[in-house]
Amino acid sequence: MDKFWIITCFTAVVLVSSCAQPSPTSNLVQPQKWWSVHPRPVYAALEHVGTFQNWFEVYKITEGTYALYEPYQFEEAICYLVEGQNRAALIDTGTGIGDLKKLVQKLTDLPVFVILTHEHYDHVADAYQFDEIIMYDNDLAVETLKKGRSNASLQRYIAKDYLWNKPLPQGFDPDAWTIPPMEPTDLVRENDIIDLGGRRLEVIYTPGHSPGQMCLLDRQNRLLFTGDHFFPGPLYAHASDVNIDDYIASNKKLCQRINEFDYLCSGHNDPYVKSEVLLRVSEAFDTIFAGGGQFAQDSTGLRRYKFDGFDILIRADMIR
Ligand SMILES: [Zn+2]
Repeated sequence: MDKFWIITCFTAVVLVSSCAQPSPTSNLVQPQKWWSVHPRPVYAALEHVGTFQNWFEVYKITEGTYALYEPYQFEEAICYLVEGQNRAALIDTGTGIGDLKKLVQKLTDLPVFVILTHEHYDHVADAYQFDEIIMYDNDLAVETLKKGRSNASLQRYIAKDYLWNKPLPQGFDPDAWTIPPMEPTDLVRENDIIDLGGRRLEVIYTPGHSPGQMCLLDRQNRLLFTGDHFFPGPLYAHASDVNIDDYIASNKKLCQRINEFDYLCSGHNDPYVKSEVLLRVSEAFDTIFAGGGQFAQDSTGLRRYKFDGFDILIRADMIR
């Protein structure tokens, strides 16, 4: 998730957040006080496992489910360690600023493999540290992973106002920060089951936020790992790699299965969100496309609609 501040035509400064590569429609300026929402209330109700490398805060969601949270960089990326009896899945791999493998080795003795919910930088950065990388079978997503990211393209994500409260962790060299080109070792498709031994993750393809975006359903624990299909923040429905029709259809698909999960483990900000919010996301899209809703619009036609528990960013010319 990239967070952008857009100057609206009303001269107000509005926080805009995305989970995509920068698009020509985004006006990136310095983030201002993104940390003012801290401490996020949800974390007080979760079991704090510890602070690691002075960078990650780890919280226990359920037995064998850990949220690995990066609160000090504006993405507030969250990845998840999900333990079965035989192996553990690492769902997403954060920004690459901390040493994720070192952290994971402190949390579990099981062999760990990576599942990427989608191909954006703040989800794939440390995947290269692991031997096994699974992602959805989508050519565009695989191509993005294969490209990697240069140091120059990442530098702005650690500019002064993008960081908060703590220095970058020891061992992280900002001038050497890259995301190496990677190849998935396995591709999955709709309804595939990833078996951890006594615990299964079911693939639900939810394109829209990005071409390769998928969710993972843990039926036993009634958890849905959403990647960036949903997180409690401004949902990025306007970026160049967004397909708005797919996004809306994916959300409807999840709503049809909402009796299978109680909580969403999202890719940013908050790791434990009541699943009913997905019903409100569908209603929100209906409202927007019916011409309703409260929004601010900037000079490029980018609108930010405000809803209960999330916002939606969308371009005026996408609403038809
Ligand atoms: Zn993201």
